[in-house]
Order: sequence, then C-alpha cells, then structure tokens
Amino acid sequence: MKAAFLDRDGVINEKAPEGEYIARWEEIRFLPDAFSAVSALARAGFKIIVATNQRGVALGKVRSVDLEEIHRRMREEFSRQGIVLTGIYVCTHDYADQCSCRKPQPGLLIRAAAEHGIELPSSWMIGDATSDIEAGKRAGCRTARILIAGSREEADSRADINSPNLAAAVERILQCSSVNRSTNA
Ligand SMILES: [Mg+2]
Ligand SMILES: [Zn+2]
Repeated sequence: MKAAFLDRDGVINEKAPEGEYIARWEEIRFLPDAFSAVSALARAGFKIIVATNQRGVALGKVRSVDLEEIHRRMREEFSRQGIVLTGIYVCTHDYADQCSCRKPQPGLLIRAAAEHGIELPSSWMIGDATSDIEAGKRAGCRTARILIAGSREEADSRADINSPNLAAAVERILQCSSVNRSTNA
C-alpha cells in the first residue's frame, strides 16, 4: 500500500499570515484545487494521510480541542467529496521539545506508515516547505514541492518534482507512477 502524505497549511488550505496560526475551523479556507487533486490521488490508489506541524498548540495560540474540531470537520468535508482521509498526523510540539515528529523529522510519516501498512519508497510527501521535503526524504519517500506562483523562492532542487500548485504536482506524480508501473512490468 502506498500513501500520499500531504502537508496541511499551504497545500490543502490557505496558510495563515506569517507568525499567525489557524486556530478555528472558521479560519480554514480550502485551496481551489484541493478536493479534485486529492481525489485523483485516491483514485490512483494512494492512501491520503495529512502530516502537519502545529506548533501553535505548544505556544498556547491554538487550543487542542479546537485543533481536533478543525480536523474532525476537515475529514467530514473530504468525506462529502467522496474522499477518505486515512489519517491526520499532527506534531504539536515546539522546537525546544526536541521531538522526533516535528518536520523535518520523519516521525509522523514513519508512525503513519507503521499504523497503516504503508510502503514508504512508493509513497510521496507533498509540501510547500523545505521541512516537508526533508521529512519525506528522511522517511524514504519521493517528494513534491509546491511553490506558490510569484514566490521568489527558487525551485527546491532537493525535491523530486517542483510544481506551482497541488493539481500540477498530482499530475506529475501520477505520470511518475505510471512510468514506474510500465518499466517494472
Ligand atoms: Mg505548509
Ligand atoms: Zn513533535
């Protein structure tokens, strides 16, 4: 079984302004291509797993109960679109906690893989930050970096693919998977 590990903020929903945190469901704005792109991954046989750093909890800016509510309603919203979220894995720690789950550490991905029988080498980590790509690489996944159009950040050469948005990333991932299928056949 393979998985698509998705970062949350900046991939599925709009990220909060720099230094701010999404603290309530009402603040979630899904990105326009989120459901169709994730649905395409699911149809291609990827389990969909969200892996997100939410340091705002450690900082006291996001309440755990509200974070759980956000993720419960996020699952419902995906479910309404016919998409099963296999898991939402969250690191709520701060840097000083020195945990093994805050991306770029691979802990969330490794735990999700163990709990759901995921083969990491055939899985992808999709994120908009270098820490997402680093976590994916350390876990042994392939990686896709989303660089918002107009961003001055250069394409991250460490990622296997770089794309301007989730839909474009998914298109490339599905091409890669079908190439691998035919060469392995
Ligand atoms: Mg992000
Ligand atoms: Zn952690």
